[in-house]
Amino acid sequence: MARYRGPACRLCRRESQKLFLKGDRCYSEKCSVDRRAYPPGQHGQGRPRFSDYGVQLREKQKVKRMYGMLEKQFSATVHKATSMKGRAGDNLLALLERRLDNVVFRLGFATSRNEARQLLKHGHFTVNGRKATIPSFSVKPGMKIGVREKSREIARIMGALETLEDASLPGWLELDKPDFEGTVKAMPVREDITLPIEEQLIVELYSRY
Ligand code: SF4
Repeated sequence: MARYRGPACRLCRRESQKLFLKGDRCYSEKCSVDRRAYPPGQHGQGRPRFSDYGVQLREKQKVKRMYGMLEKQFSATVHKATSMKGRAGDNLLALLERRLDNVVFRLGFATSRNEARQLLKHGHFTVNGRKATIPSFSVKPGMKIGVREKSREIARIMGALETLEDASLPGWLELDKPDFEGTVKAMPVREDITLPIEEQLIVELYSRY
C-alpha cells in the first residue's frame, strides 16, 4: 500500500496543529509546531484566508493525515460511512478508529499510528491468535489483539507500553498489560473520540462531488 514518505512535521505545520505523527518527539520541545508555529513554504507566514470549501478541505486533510491514509482509501471510507445507517460523521470516526493500526496505537503497543503500521507490517501482532499484518483491517467487538510471543521483547513495543498512561485508553478497549493483549469491548462511539475533529465538515466536502 502506498503511503506518504515526506517529512511528517511539515504536515502538522500545514494544519497548524499537532497531529502526533512522530511518537515521543511530539511531546518534547523538538516539536516543529511549537518551534515554528506557521505553515511551511515561502508564503507560510502570510495570513491565510479560507473559503467554506477551504475550511472543509483542511479538516479533511487533517484527519486523513492523522490516520496516515491516502486520498483513495480515505474517500472510500467516507463513502462507506455515508452509506451506513446513522450519522455519517459518527460512522466515519468509528470506521477510522476501528482500523487495526489505530487500535495497536490506542492500546499502547506503539507511540504513533505510523509506528503501529510499521510494526504491524513486520508481523508482530495477532488478531484472535492469528498473525495480522493489514493496517486497514477493521476490528469488531470481542476481538483480541495481541503481541506475538517472540515480539514481546522488542524495545519499541516495551517502551511504548511503559509510557502508556492508563487514563489514555479509550473506553471501548481493554488492555491486559502483563499478557500483551487488548480486547475490543464495544464499537467506538463519538464520545470515545476526543480528537479535535469536525467530522461534519468532511461529510459536507464529499457531498459536493
Ligand atoms: Fe507533528 Fe509530532 Fe512533528 Fe510535532 S513532532 S510537528 S506533533 S509530527
